[in-house]
Amino acid sequence: MSDTPQYPIESGCPDGFQYLHPVMKKNFGNWDFHERPRPGVLRHVAKSGDEIWTVRFGTQRQLGPYEINLLCDIADEYADGYVHFTIRSNMEFCVADKAKVEPMIAAIEEAGYPIGGTGPSVTMISHTQGWLHCDIPGTDASGVVKALMDELHEDFTHEKMPNRVHITTSCCQINCGGQGDIAINVQHTKPPKINHDLVANACERPSVVARCPVAAIRPAMVNGKPSLEIDEKKCICCGACFPPCPPMQINDAEYSKLAIWVGGKHSNARSKPMFHKLVAAGVPNNPPRWPEAAAIVKTILEAYRKDALDWERTGDWVERIGWPRFFELTELPFTKFHIDNWKGARNSLNASTHIRF
Ligand code: SF4
Ligand code: SF4
Repeated sequence: MSDTPQYPIESGCPDGFQYLHPVMKKNFGNWDFHERPRPGVLRHVAKSGDEIWTVRFGTQRQLGPYEINLLCDIADEYADGYVHFTIRSNMEFCVADKAKVEPMIAAIEEAGYPIGGTGPSVTMISHTQGWLHCDIPGTDASGVVKALMDELHEDFTHEKMPNRVHITTSCCQINCGGQGDIAINVQHTKPPKINHDLVANACERPSVVARCPVAAIRPAMVNGKPSLEIDEKKCICCGACFPPCPPMQINDAEYSKLAIWVGGKHSNARSKPMFHKLVAAGVPNNPPRWPEAAAIVKTILEAYRKDALDWERTGDWVERIGWPRFFELTELPFTKFHIDNWKGARNSLNASTHIRF
């Protein structure tokens, strides 16, 4: 063994400073204040007296060469060639010359991109794109995002919510769903169907057995070949066995549904980070426009907009009014799927005789 320590090969994202607009870089950490002259536009003023305007806009999220060239040409002409993506995948162009702000907005709108996503608006919906890079998607999350952002266009371009709204989606049930003010996540409703002919060739059976969070999988011999079997009474239809063993087919056009969750957030501003909670289950996964999911999201947003106090995030709002009132206001049915009855969840069940308010 060599005495020289082995350092990891760092292949993460590059240092972002090299891509900052020079005025941003020069004044980093020395800003006096910022304001939003209109939805989608930020004005930062530095202690040095420098000013910089940022114009934020939504995109179709997956940009092809045509869109990238179009937007880069606008950035070259008006934004000194600098482009910035926010964590919600909004695009931003920064410019230090106030005279260029209006022409830049006109050029972005002319190209078909909406300006907005700042302050108390519904900003771009975040999602991962399983179809392109992942081995376990159960749906096309970007399609849900596109359909919803079309429906919520006005909520993106206007700041009329009580606080910012972060919507997330996921393309499988177990990973990137994130904590969102509103989240639209895949929900499998049937245990996997096993293609026994393929298991012996494609799957490392101990890894698959170990993957199951409720120990529902065990090795079995089927038709003389080593395979697996599932105790369907235990299975919680999570889909975790599918990535290490694609013959555990769980994706299904009819039984892979969407579920809608509400009230999560990562930030610790004003209140602590929160997990989102299930509010609608078994929503049809209905491409290309997902009308059922869109209708529920719009109902929740409308109830939140009307009833929440200024600066309350959705989770803060529901905490204040209580979940029963949330279901009354949104008129969403409260079903057996909202009750946490997985036996591993004993700790979170209200199993005592105390009445809690
Ligand atoms: S949500 Fe699931 S399928 Fe989609 S990218 Fe993340 S891990 Fe992959
Ligand atoms: S879907 Fe989830 S619970 Fe069911 S067998 Fe696979 S890993 Fe286990």
